[in-house]
Amino acid sequence: MASCMTEAFHDQTALVLFSGGQDSATCLAWALSQFARVEMLGFDYGQRHAIELDCRARLIDRLKAINSAWAAKLGDSHTLAIPTLCVISDTALTRDVAIAMGADGLPNTFVPGRNLIFLTFAAALAYRRGISAIVGGMCETDYSGYPDCRDDTIRALNHALDLGMARKFELLTPLMWRDKAATWQLAHDLGGTALVDLIREHSHTCYLGERGARHDWGYGCGQCPACQLRAKGWRQYAAAAG
Ligand code: ZN
Repeated sequence: MASCMTEAFHDQTALVLFSGGQDSATCLAWALSQFARVEMLGFDYGQRHAIELDCRARLIDRLKAINSAWAAKLGDSHTLAIPTLCVISDTALTRDVAIAMGADGLPNTFVPGRNLIFLTFAAALAYRRGISAIVGGMCETDYSGYPDCRDDTIRALNHALDLGMARKFELLTPLMWRDKAATWQLAHDLGGTALVDLIREHSHTCYLGERGARHDWGYGCGQCPACQLRAKGWRQYAAAAG
């Protein structure tokens, strides 16, 4: 097994933010390798790539087939609808407009504060379910510049949640310092070629919700920032793997 695994969380339950994309699917496998039990949480906020949510059930079913120990650990899969996020956002993820860079240097796919909102809802759910470990795919190594993906932001929010709910949460971001190629490698370390192939085929990343064209890195429009990041990472990973 890979060196990234520890016994630190062997008797605990984790709540994984699981959208059905490449990053969260890899985080789910990571959590299954670390924790005794894993629950999942997805959000429906009117995103154009709501097809991600359809991918979740297929990914979960097939993860069970890859590893029987993981099958025994998989618990409830939750979905929270937060249509308010769509109402207060004015971005290319939730409206039918072209994806472009804004004057502030951020792509217009940025939903302000989205991860703060997601993690706060996740902590509220975790609180109710007696869970302290929350796993998310935030990454500031190979990302679109979203300030709510930064490690400093996650640490600050962890502190705020601890204070605001009078609990000790642990926000875990296993992808924070990995680029996209390293995320593919992590999937391989955790579940071998079977997991890499599962994520290629059944996870969804494209901002536009395209699943028509099949590329060697999976399905997507191939043009949006998410597709371009995923494709670039795949090419680097595949070249390194030979
Ligand atoms: Zn795309």
